[in-house]
Amino acid sequence: MANYDVIVIGAGPGGYVCAIRCAQLGLKTAVVEGRETLGGTCLNVGCIPSKALLHASHQLHEAEHNFAKMGLKGKSPSVDWKQMLAYKQDVIDTNTKGVEFLFKKNKIDWLKGWGSIPTPGKVKVGDEVHEAKNIIIASGSEAASLPGVEVDEKVVVTSTGALELGKIPKKLVVIGAGVIGLELGSVYQRLGAEVTVIEYLDVITPGMDPEVQKTFQRILKKQGLNFVMGAAVQKTEATKTKAKVTYKLRKDDSEHVIEADTVLVATGRKPFHDGLGLDALGVELTPRGQIKVGKDWQTNVPGIYAIGDVIEGPMLAHKAEDEGMAAAEMVAGKHGQVNYGVIPGVIYTWPEVANVGETEATLKEQGRAYKVGKFSFMGNGRAKANFAADGFVKILADKETDRILGCHIIGPGAGDLIHEVCVAMEFGASAEDLALTCHAHPTYSEAVREAALACGDGPIHA
Ligand code: FAD
Repeated sequence: MANYDVIVIGAGPGGYVCAIRCAQLGLKTAVVEGRETLGGTCLNVGCIPSKALLHASHQLHEAEHNFAKMGLKGKSPSVDWKQMLAYKQDVIDTNTKGVEFLFKKNKIDWLKGWGSIPTPGKVKVGDEVHEAKNIIIASGSEAASLPGVEVDEKVVVTSTGALELGKIPKKLVVIGAGVIGLELGSVYQRLGAEVTVIEYLDVITPGMDPEVQKTFQRILKKQGLNFVMGAAVQKTEATKTKAKVTYKLRKDDSEHVIEADTVLVATGRKPFHDGLGLDALGVELTPRGQIKVGKDWQTNVPGIYAIGDVIEGPMLAHKAEDEGMAAAEMVAGKHGQVNYGVIPGVIYTWPEVANVGETEATLKEQGRAYKVGKFSFMGNGRAKANFAADGFVKILADKETDRILGCHIIGPGAGDLIHEVCVAMEFGASAEDLALTCHAHPTYSEAVREAALACGDGPIHA
């Protein structure tokens, strides 16, 4: 047993970042983690491994589709799936070991095992009970289930199983056209699978800018992904090697069956707090099962905080990290803060999709007058040279004040480009501020400037 200023439960991006900041602020800190490795969903079975597979499969796509056009001739590479999985594992290991190193450097104790909170101020791990002035729950999330669909992580898989398939499926059915489904669907489509995405709604990536949604779906279709829209999956029936997916089209209630070697269930994630003992503690939850917190990330039980996927808000690693830092500041008696209005979202397909701030729909809801500055990557020299001119940047600015309210990008490097808009928004910049900023030529970022120019007197290259 030991006494700590802070015990963090969960070593995902929320928990490990929080612990490092606590230690930097001079607090005696420990982290409880039940997994064999640190880094949580993100490093082990989420952001990092999926990006490794997206990177590898994108290289193959480039070799197959664009190399010859540039005079790079010869046989396209073939796929050694085992080696690709080994590369992915290597990327995971390097990152999780990196967090372990940071824990040692910052003198953070890793309490190995699954933790629970028997009473406020105490954390139990195995048979040991540790004392903590503050407890921060960062226990993350797990894949949501779907009625009639039984996951075996072999044939019918969540994203975790999809990152570890024994072989590349010939036919893959993805249930859900959200970020995870489209990223992993893209991976397997590029690796040769026939991929069909079944989506309940009539649009992909719900909540995103409708023009981006349409362009994105068109590009993905062109790449070879098939879509069944407006369809409610009824059930899956799996053998050891195959599965049948039954769905009903919402427009006419007709029932259809599709066969696949692998079915990926990607219908979202739900907060995970099993085994912590929240009921007995009286910790309040939202109707959606998230832990309820106040502005200081404290729950209704004094001294118990919560951050990341287990509370409300977008389930994103960087949102969890920001909350981790802010909660650490609060515990240390300082002023932590997260600007929830400026949290970017990125889809790491090719092209990438990124957004921040308001959409036209949310601005209309608020009755706020706005203007739109849009610029196509067709007018961007660098994008044309790199076979990446399909897509656009759209900036939304206040009609009166010109203040930037949101940005939606589909195109090359969108996930990086969005950040200049995030910084601009944090500083309360106007579209004109961006438009007057010199952008290096030839870069993709010129398209962001042109979109900002389009909010005023007009872009140059359109
Ligand atoms: P988690 O990362 O889920 O970590 C929680 C940790 O707590 C886990 O390691 C768990 O073992 C541990 N734990 C839980 N309960 C206990 C207990 N009682 N005792 C001990 N340990 C416990 N987000 C992005 O921003 N960008 C992306 O590109 C992206 N890609 C993704 C791809 C996939 C396939 C998936 C599944 C998710 C992706 N996400 C991405 C989401 C991202 O992974 C999560 O938002 C992020 O990991 C949340 O961080 P967290 O710290 O709240 O929780």
